[in-house]
Amino acid sequence: MSYKLNISSRKETLIKLLDVIIKHENKIIQALHEDFKKPPFESVLTETSYVISELKDTIKNIKSWAKPKRVWPSLLNFPSTDYIYKEPYGKVLIIAPWNYPFQLALCPLISAVAAGNQVVLKPSELTPKTSAIIAEIIEKTFQHNHVKVIEGGVEATQKLLAQRWDYIFFTGSVPVGKIVAKAAAENLTPVTLELGGKNPCIIDETANLKLAAKRIVWGKFLNAGQTCIAPDYILIQEDMKSHFVDYLKKEITAAYGEDPKSSPDFPRIVNEKNWHRLVSMIEPQKVIFGGITDVEDCYISPTLIEENSLDSLLMEDEIFGPILPILTYKDEAEIGPVISKYEKPLALYVFTDDRKFAKKIIKNHSFGGGCINETVMHFSNKRLPFGGVGHSGIGAYHGKLSFDTFSHCKGVVKKATWLDLPMRYAPYNNKLASIKKLLKWL
Ligand code: NAD
Repeated sequence: MSYKLNISSRKETLIKLLDVIIKHENKIIQALHEDFKKPPFESVLTETSYVISELKDTIKNIKSWAKPKRVWPSLLNFPSTDYIYKEPYGKVLIIAPWNYPFQLALCPLISAVAAGNQVVLKPSELTPKTSAIIAEIIEKTFQHNHVKVIEGGVEATQKLLAQRWDYIFFTGSVPVGKIVAKAAAENLTPVTLELGGKNPCIIDETANLKLAAKRIVWGKFLNAGQTCIAPDYILIQEDMKSHFVDYLKKEITAAYGEDPKSSPDFPRIVNEKNWHRLVSMIEPQKVIFGGITDVEDCYISPTLIEENSLDSLLMEDEIFGPILPILTYKDEAEIGPVISKYEKPLALYVFTDDRKFAKKIIKNHSFGGGCINETVMHFSNKRLPFGGVGHSGIGAYHGKLSFDTFSHCKGVVKKATWLDLPMRYAPYNNKLASIKKLLKWL
């Protein structure tokens, strides 16, 4: 059953959603804390305020984003006026992960609604408290046949994937991304896949090491390293390593104290399964800082690893936890082969004061998005597309691009009737030379 809303009604529902979210903000923060001890500061910064800002931006711009856009016509169509019309896809399925369980469920949902779609949202089963509060918020805001939440795990998701959708927006791991893409292919359903990867963080000999350490510690240990765009490994010029490691240790202690377990600012690993996966990758002889674990509490302290092999378990796949391997290079020429050993990453970071070096790294490697002398923060600019490339994802979103993601763009030529140039019609006779000349000008 289709559910059509004009722009004003879409805007009204988004205003209602904003109101409901603001009223439930404390409950959301509480749920995130119960799920994996996410610190309230991080919940506000990366979840609630991010969603609220996305909602406000969408409410402010929805009319102009939805309006048909006039574009320059082709001279071949003279005289015409040409437009791009935005049309909702129809029924949209959004599947969310657990690591930013509120934001990564709500942001695509806001844009899908703004673009005029019906939505079914499947939050992650690994963060059940947040999933429940999302269901409550949606229930209070939307008609059941407009937006609904289906809670559940793998089985529930697979049942949803077996249905026919007009668009699927998936955020999660690469293997499940492939399952989603296969299911979507059955009905030629377009997809956005927001996946992960092994994000390099390169540091050359000109970098401000103290500041680099501070920004890397923040970006890596935010959410206990369970961030799709967290630096996955460090690749630093060999001579800088020992200084840099000293700075890293100082910054970790400054942020989380001598015992990060008792810090209110350091979250836990989401569940035992992930805890075991991470702990099994730590080779004790390579630990140069941290390495303290407690299965009862799903705790792994911020851990630095001296890594010298690309074939270790830690260097096999995306880490997605508070473990940071540090690799070195002697010569710039050694950087490329390390990065290209892996699939194209979701993010790449380079710390340097050498503009040429930064430019070379950015231009020579393919990655979703990234920063120079910073980590993670490219996520915060709504004017930048956010998404992967190759195995780190298909499509991108944020800001207006999110609205466009959930809209089909219909190109329409409105041809005038007061003139009908005869050139293109058969019989073509001796018109070939003239059309060749004309086409040169177009
Ligand atoms: P996941 O792929 O395990 O789960 C994501 C969703 O898929 C969940 O809702 C889950 O219920 C469902 N799911 C899991 N297994 C399934 C199966 N076999 N069949 C059908 N559905 C299934 O991912 P996760 O553990 O929730 O999140 C971590 C991953 O997500 C990391 O790889 C991370 O890099 C990635 N991620 C990417 C982004 C991004 O924006 N690109 C953001 C956050 C997380």
